[in-house]
Amino acid sequence: MAASVRDNLAAVRERIERARQRGGQPRPVSLVAVTKTHPPVLIREAWEAGQREFGENRVQEFEQKHGVVERDGAVWHLIGHLQSNKARRAVQLFDVIETVDTERLARRLHDAASEAGRVIPVFIEVKLSGEASKTGCAESELPALADAVRALPRLDLRGLMTMPPYSEDAERARPYFQRLRDWGERLRVPELSMGMSHDFEIAIEEGATLVRVGTAIFGERPRP
Ligand SMILES: *Cc1c(COP(=O)(O)O)cnc(C)c1O
Repeated sequence: MAASVRDNLAAVRERIERARQRGGQPRPVSLVAVTKTHPPVLIREAWEAGQREFGENRVQEFEQKHGVVERDGAVWHLIGHLQSNKARRAVQLFDVIETVDTERLARRLHDAASEAGRVIPVFIEVKLSGEASKTGCAESELPALADAVRALPRLDLRGLMTMPPYSEDAERARPYFQRLRDWGERLRVPELSMGMSHDFEIAIEEGATLVRVGTAIFGERPRP
């Protein structure tokens, strides 16, 4: 029988804590439970096991699901690519936007946040590999984008986010995590969102303050 969401969450939290100690990371590490493609019943189980931070990668999918847990107390992160024309809807639905990658999107989010009377915590998604399929801001454009985001009072630049190229060998992600950490220090942002099911421990050893974990909590995603 498959382990329950509750058991998986407990195991992941324990692994996070051990990696944090190994890496000498003084701050607590936030766990964002990635619920994309998973049914509301599993999200509910995670909520009942005390999980409060969640991640989804599509505005449209989340529109169908966001009523599943109490709005109060839950923190929803948008972790997938966001098109500028969906910025307003994203601000209505999500608490944190992790995938700011252009100035144009930042401005749209800022306008939507003004309309909503909110300040939105955001991350800049950084593309550290040359993969054409990946989204994110190029490193050469990162300092300028960080300045632009900081100039927008309705956006609160919390940190940087990245997704290294997938490899069976999680150790291969380490240099990317180190590079994001270097950028984080240079730009003086408090948070680094990096690490997924197969490599979150390495990310934490390299300074992640937030990991985004789906499969290790909810099992394999159903294939479309
Ligand atoms: C799906 C996804 C995750 C979680 O991936 P797992 O391997 O299931 O843990 C993390 N970050 C982003 C951006 C994702 O799209």
